[in-house]
Formats: sequence, structure tokens, C-alpha cells
Amino acid sequence: MKVLLLGGTGEARSLAQALSGAGVDVVSSLAGRTTDARLPVGAVRQGGFGGVDGLTDWLRDNAVGAVVDATHPFAATMTEHAAAAAHQLDLPLLVLRRPGWTAAEGDVWHWVDSPDAAARLLPDIGSRAFLTIGRQGIHAFAGAGVWMLARCVDPPEPMPTWCELILDRGPYDVPGELTVLREHEIDVLVTKDSGGPQTSAKLVAARQLGVAVIVIRRPPLPAGVQVVETTTEVLAWVEAHVD
Ligand code: NAP
Repeated sequence: MKVLLLGGTGEARSLAQALSGAGVDVVSSLAGRTTDARLPVGAVRQGGFGGVDGLTDWLRDNAVGAVVDATHPFAATMTEHAAAAAHQLDLPLLVLRRPGWTAAEGDVWHWVDSPDAAARLLPDIGSRAFLTIGRQGIHAFAGAGVWMLARCVDPPEPMPTWCELILDRGPYDVPGELTVLREHEIDVLVTKDSGGPQTSAKLVAARQLGVAVIVIRRPPLPAGVQVVETTTEVLAWVEAHVD
């Protein structure tokens, strides 16, 4: 039985390796928008499917028997499409969502629902902001009216003229994040609640320096989907579903 693994995350790459190693017929799928993407081992397809209908056709044409959605917690459209297509074809679907971040003692976190809400709140919280939300949603901050530094993997389109830009890809460590915050005299950090260790060093650095943090909440998951938090649980689920 073939398994479609919706990826674009470190967990998806680990899963592709583990599933391929276990002899599972797995195809990883990437959106194909990141230049120089780290490719998973095994079979890979790239690019959008063309909405729910395109994904449904692809699943049927490729005789997929189960779907694992290991996309990023903020890839809400892909997750909705996967749930809808799996429902239409009555296919088993499992969503892997790493746990979100939680504030620790000393943290000053402000939770908001969207990049727009974060941009509105920003001038009340600080005057020198570090935006670490990726390139999507960054244009919501264009008129925020404070000095801004943004960090993305690939350049945003159009290229923002209203902020300084660092092009870089994690994982990041605490000493490096302390340097960025200090050198740019950052007093407010803006992040999505991505969760996981790859990009959490900035939160530790912000705590150490007393920098406030605006955290964008995750979009909700589609109703009724089965969700697990670890790759170990995914492997057990696949084993139970693969004949
Ligand atoms: P999204 O908004 O949920 O998806 C937009 C469209 O991109 C989907 O409708 C689909 O196009 C296509 N797509 C997304 N993920 C895909 C995948 N794994 N395989 C094939 N097509 C995919 O997604 P996004 O937030 O732009 O994220 C794109 C990719 O980057 C995802 O794979 C995600 O895991 C990864 N990523 C996202 C973030 C983030 O913060 N959003 C961070 C790190 C990594 P069609 O409708 O044409 O099928």
C-alpha cells in the first residue's frame, strides 16, 4: 500500500527516512516553493496538487492507501485539503502536529490570532522589532510604524523596503540569537507558534534579555481529524494501516 507523506518539515524528512527504511512504499510531497529545499530520502513529488479536486485525483491515480500530513502547523490550507480529499475517498488520514510552545518564567508573551493582529499590537509593545514569521504574512507589517528586522529563508515578494532583512535558515542556537537581538537592539520579537526545537532558541534569548514576544496562534485543525504529536506515533499508525 502506498502512503502519501505531506511534508516540508524536519519531522516529515525523518518520517520519510524511517518509512523508506522499513520498506513502506512512501511518496513525500513538497510544495516546491523553497529554493534549495532539503529533500527527503525516497520518492518525492513537488508542487501543488491543484486544490482538493487535484489532490483527490492524485490520490486515486496513484493508488494511495493512507495519508500522513506532516506539514508545518501553519500550512492550514494543505491540511484542510488533505482532510477533505481523504474524507471523499474514505482514506485513513493522520496529522502530525508537534506541540506548540509554552511560556516559561520570565517570559512576556502576547498572543494574537494573525499577522495583522500582531502588526496592530506591535507599536504598543516595542520600537525595534525582530520578525521571525517567514515570508508569508510579512507584508502585514509594512505600516506598523516601528523599526523592523525580518528573517526569512527565501526573500519575500515583493521585496520589503520598510525593514532590514536577514536571509537564513535554522536551526539557530541561543548564542547566535542573543547576538542578533543585542546587535539590533531588539525590544520585541514576533513569532508564529511553530513549536519544536529548530527555531526555539530565539525564545530563550528573548527571555534572557527581557525582550517581549508577540506569538501568533496556530490556525485550527479541520474537525474530526486524528492528530498525534510524535513521529513514533506516526510510525506505529502506518504500521497498523499498511498491509
Ligand atoms: P498552505 O498555505 O497550507 O498551502 C498552500 C498551497 O500550497 C496548498 O493548497 C497546496 O497547493 C500547496 N502545498 C502546501 N504544502 C504542500 C505539500 N506538502 N505538497 C504539495 N503541495 C503543497 O502551505 P504553506 O504554509 O504555504 O506551506 C508550504 C509548505 O512549506 C508546506 O509543505 C509546509 O509544510 C512548509 N512550511 C510552511 C511553513 C509556514 O510557516 N507556513 C513553515 C515551514 C515549512 P494545491 O492547493 O495546489 O494543492
